[in-house]
Amino acid sequence: MSAKPRILSGMRSTSDRLHLGNYEGALRNWVEMQDQVDMFCMVADWHVLTTAADAEIHPDIAANSLGVAKDFLAAGLDPKRCTIFRQSDVKEHAELALLLGMVVGVGKLEAAPTFKEKAAEVTGDHIVSYGLLGYPVLQAADILLYKPEGVPVGRDQAPHLELSREIARSFNHLFGEVFPMFKDIIPEDESRSKLPGLDMRKMSKSYDNCIYLSDSPEETSKRIKSAFTTPTKIAKSDPGIPEGCAVCQYLKLYSPDWERQWAEDRAGERGCMQSKQELTEILNEYLRPMRERRGSLTDADTEAILQDGARRAREVASETMNEVRRAMRIA
Ligand code: ATP
Ligand code: MG
Repeated sequence: MSAKPRILSGMRSTSDRLHLGNYEGALRNWVEMQDQVDMFCMVADWHVLTTAADAEIHPDIAANSLGVAKDFLAAGLDPKRCTIFRQSDVKEHAELALLLGMVVGVGKLEAAPTFKEKAAEVTGDHIVSYGLLGYPVLQAADILLYKPEGVPVGRDQAPHLELSREIARSFNHLFGEVFPMFKDIIPEDESRSKLPGLDMRKMSKSYDNCIYLSDSPEETSKRIKSAFTTPTKIAKSDPGIPEGCAVCQYLKLYSPDWERQWAEDRAGERGCMQSKQELTEILNEYLRPMRERRGSLTDADTEAILQDGARRAREVASETMNEVRRAMRIA
């Protein structure tokens, strides 16, 4: 047993690659924490099905999961210092989700923020599934199985984590103190905890407004060229508003010279093209080591790392399930 505090977090494999928002909001913290804590990093593949169960929109989840695991490794997670695993390899997640489902009110789930939003997007012959409604229960199971002290995520996850804690409290109230409370670990800096996308909405795989960690330098350059800047800044001499400009937001994060760049933008002393070019260079340099690492990872090696991680995850998960079954008087 490790004496270090346990930490758990995960990412959905809705795509085969992660973006800068995933990195700044969560993954970067995971990498930084891996030596101080007993870190569990999950590829949440079952969660993809909560929003994409239809054959029509069904992605290749297996391939996506390998891609996400590769981005974990490329970003600096080391399988010798942390546990990297795939949700569907640890069946205890399904068992605990089933059991936690018995202590959650339907009304609570219907009122969950993403449920309403995602259910409203369902059109035509598509259905609002039981899986979508139950998404927060599965997420609570993912977390509670590991009894973590903290869960490092981006700001958008805060309401979900609160719901997971509520589910834990309900369970503890009914069956005894099995699940300790955990804390959110969210970057303090708003520009990291909710990184804007190229269009200034939240950077998100589903909006296609992302800079991906594994994109080529050329693709990154193309994407940055398409980024939203101050709409009223047409000529170089027009004043910019850096607070509302995606390019300036990224400069603030990545450029040591951002204060001067912002001042020049505001004063109409620099054009958006110049800022875009400078940002492209800085960002491609920043992402270069990750891209090199990712290029050297094979599917077979990544799969072996996931298998090894699943063994370690199962050890913890099966212990928690023994406790849960006893508490519920199933065993
Ligand atoms: P999807 O659109 O499929 O929901 P996503 O891009 O929102 O994908 P998730 O897998 O839902 O990614 O989130 C993984 C982690 O990345 C979570 O901790 C989430 O808070 C964080 N995250 C996602 N987008 C951002 C962002 N723009 N800024 C900061 N953190 C983010
Ligand atoms: Mg999301």
